[in-house]
Amino acid sequence: MSSHSCSLLFPVEEDHEYSMSDYEGVQARWCPGCGDHSVLTAAQRLLAAEQLKPEETVFVSGIGCSSRFPHYVNSYGFHGLHGRALPVATGVKLNRPDLHVFVVMGDGDCTSIGAAHWLHATRYNVDMVALMLDNNIYGLTKMQTSPTTPQGYKSNTQPLGSYLPALNPIETTLGVTNASFVAQTAEWMPAHLYATLEAAYRHKGFAFVRILQRCPVFTGDLYQDAVRNPDMIEMLEHPDGIEVPDLHQIYKNVARHDPRNMEAAREMAEKTDLIRVGVFFRDESRPRYEETRHLPLHSTDEKIEILNDELDKYAV
Ligand code: SF4
Repeated sequence: MSSHSCSLLFPVEEDHEYSMSDYEGVQARWCPGCGDHSVLTAAQRLLAAEQLKPEETVFVSGIGCSSRFPHYVNSYGFHGLHGRALPVATGVKLNRPDLHVFVVMGDGDCTSIGAAHWLHATRYNVDMVALMLDNNIYGLTKMQTSPTTPQGYKSNTQPLGSYLPALNPIETTLGVTNASFVAQTAEWMPAHLYATLEAAYRHKGFAFVRILQRCPVFTGDLYQDAVRNPDMIEMLEHPDGIEVPDLHQIYKNVARHDPRNMEAAREMAEKTDLIRVGVFFRDESRPRYEETRHLPLHSTDEKIEILNDELDKYAV
């Protein structure tokens, strides 16, 4: 595991009260106005509010603009391979269940090359927070169509416009057996973003959060209408999901949605008349892989013996 932080950089006093500045890594190098900055601030605010020890917190990412996230958080971090953040994070959590694991992926990273991992991580339901920052384009590699690029949107790889309808990540995640937490928020709604991250962190299981994220460089026009016109947003609220009453003055479309109701969640996810944000689905009773797998406990010597026995099967 690579780390920009060594243990000496973490506060060491037992009773240290953590503030947001304790979680600041190196200076973020995202473009000015990039929505990733807002997500970073919300994440650091959450870490401080929950008083998570940096040495017990891990951010795992793949490749893409948002995948620079682990460098910018003063915790342990793993900036891995394209699309492979979820299996790395799963390995971390299974071996160190005491750690707080956060995954940061882009839309190309998660829904294209990492799509199989996304489906299986959802089904395995290992306890972690998975953030998918969706700017509808491959930003780091300079504007290539991603699975969530809207149909007809021009890019460097499909200059006449994206050929196919965009993949709907919320609908897809809800379709996976054993999904336990599925939410959507937007980085330009900081109070909503924070409430969603908090709910995701407190959920026991795999919490998938799609964050609508502005990329002013390559898809600057995509979310502008929704940013300027709050009537294009509908907030899904429920005591078992999230409620953000402070935003009701601005966002007038508020729907009560019980996140235990999968059928209603799928109906909401399919609709395209408004952008819906909130917790679509949540069920903590779903089995988690780390709890249901039956791993016999072995000493180190026993593990070596078992491994040698296995390898002997292939001896010629
Ligand atoms: Fe953010 Fe877009 Fe710049 Fe990448 S290219 S850092 S997504 S604004």
